[in-house]
Amino acid sequence: MSSVPTTARLIDGNALARSIRDDVARRVAALAARGVVPGLAVVLVGENPASAVYVRNKVKDCAEVGIASTLDRLPADTSETALLERIVALNADPAVHGILVQLPLPEHIDEHRVIEAISPAKDADGFHVSNVGQLVVGEPLFRPCTPYGVMKMLEHAGTRLDGAEAVVIGRSNIVGKPQALMLLAAGATVTVCHSRTRDLAAHTRRADILVAAVGRPNLVTADMVKPGATVIDVGMNRGADGKLCGDVDFAGVSRVAGAITPVPGGVGPMTRAMLLVNTIEAAERGAR
Ligand code: NAP
Repeated sequence: MSSVPTTARLIDGNALARSIRDDVARRVAALAARGVVPGLAVVLVGENPASAVYVRNKVKDCAEVGIASTLDRLPADTSETALLERIVALNADPAVHGILVQLPLPEHIDEHRVIEAISPAKDADGFHVSNVGQLVVGEPLFRPCTPYGVMKMLEHAGTRLDGAEAVVIGRSNIVGKPQALMLLAAGATVTVCHSRTRDLAAHTRRADILVAAVGRPNLVTADMVKPGATVIDVGMNRGADGKLCGDVDFAGVSRVAGAITPVPGGVGPMTRAMLLVNTIEAAERGAR
């Protein structure tokens, strides 16, 4: 964390994620009393080192709250057909409430086809087009974990969304677009910026809520931020010093913003926590 004096309130993702995990653990215990154990199936294809760390953390998070998880580690040369067959089996397994196929997949496998093979009722990442559609029409089933976590952070920070100007930088299917939809559903007036946006700062300076989801260190500087704004930094980058950093110049923006998330310790732990929320919600739906 920076030693520069700050004025912005810190939105502590670690602390909020901890309280969300505690709540999930209570809900797991309540389901156990009814003989239901929530289950998450994680599938990893290949040896991508970052993916291996992510799935290990997901399995560990599940164990901590009492969710039963399985990890399928499939070799990098697994055929698309074999992977699809595994998904069909998981779709049919009543002990599995959520399925997550870690992305990216090896190049010979069509990612879209794999996501679409997952039952929308078990799509723990919320990437299936059916779940995207549910979000578009305002009746979400599974919400993508990162933007869902951001919404929880805004709620926790007491940020007013109704009527607020929200600017999202980034238009990916997993963060930017679903983030914009969730903010819109909450009553914000939403602008989505991207690499082709002319005069990014002209947009960001209007934002009461600014979400940066790009993947470029220091893209958002203090002069681009409206005084008092809530700034959410989704970015996860390695800075020149090799340290993890976001898209926002934290030290500079902290002196202008009203509230800000740090990196690390901001959106990252919330993304992990929301996967547990998606899984317990699926198990609760199944038990109803
Ligand atoms: P992505 O698919 O690469 O999308 C990046 C977006 O940023 C694109 O829409 C791109 O525009 C836009 N962009 C690129 N350069 C820009 C610029 N100079 N000005 C404005 N917009 C620009 O990335 P992603 O998957 O959404 O992830 C974004 C960041 O969030 C990454 O750092 C990633 O590691 C991080 N992330 C963090 C978490 C977490 O849990 N903390 C979770 C997911 C992702 P175009 O569409 O025009 O190319």
